[in-house]
Amino acid sequence: MCGGAAAPLVEGLYECGECRLVFRAEKYFGAPAYKPGLEEGIYGGAKAVLFRETLDFLDRAFPARGRLLDIGCAGGELLAAAAARGWRAEGVELDRTLAVKALARGFKTHLNPVEDDGLEGGAYDAVTVFDVFSQMKDPAAAAKELSRLLKPGGIIYIREFNAAFHLPLYRLEKAGFFKPFGASPSIIHNFNFRAETLRAMLMRSGFREIRIRNSRPTSGDPYRTGGRLGGFLTGALKVLYYWLAQAVWFLTFGRVYAGSSLIVTARK
Ligand SMILES: [Zn+2]
Repeated sequence: MCGGAAAPLVEGLYECGECRLVFRAEKYFGAPAYKPGLEEGIYGGAKAVLFRETLDFLDRAFPARGRLLDIGCAGGELLAAAAARGWRAEGVELDRTLAVKALARGFKTHLNPVEDDGLEGGAYDAVTVFDVFSQMKDPAAAAKELSRLLKPGGIIYIREFNAAFHLPLYRLEKAGFFKPFGASPSIIHNFNFRAETLRAMLMRSGFREIRIRNSRPTSGDPYRTGGRLGGFLTGALKVLYYWLAQAVWFLTFGRVYAGSSLIVTARK
């Protein structure tokens, strides 16, 4: 992402010595393959509270609303919530089966990676990117393109997995720590970002007023990573951990982000 030198970190993963981006040596491309029946929970129910928080934030920044672009819009769940509040919403979705659902709901849906699509520059008030940078072909190019697409003063709102949380978990998982529970809690993608990595990427793309915080977890266990712990217990553990991460954040004066996911907002 930044051109810095990378070194092997753990099995199959490398880390950049400069921006600390962690990436897979062998990248996997393609839509995530969830077990049948999980998608509704992953894209809809589990994120409903997060979408509401996002739109509350954007509504405050733009009381008159405007144009919103959701990257990785799935079946248009966030688009529908935004449209109900008066946003002119459109999305980017590479997975055709999901894109068809967003189109059927009446939303303009672009089917190519945003950095290749040549959308209208300086046209959008807000861009949302929920858990997508980690799976992109070229996140740095996409961040630059999103900056170009926003109007001056436009806002980018990002949710992304936190590598500072998932890497230690991945190590424990490799060591067999979670086997007794049948759980596989770490989430590792092609690209894995720490707070500082996201900050560096946005600064290089011309964003300012970059603010980062721990994200609330999704509700329940939509990805079924908790195994025998079940949905309720996994969900409860996630909430408990979120407050622990918040405590760490306060006690380190905002220096340490331990949350499983991060929320990043910035202005063009
Ligand atoms: Zn780097």
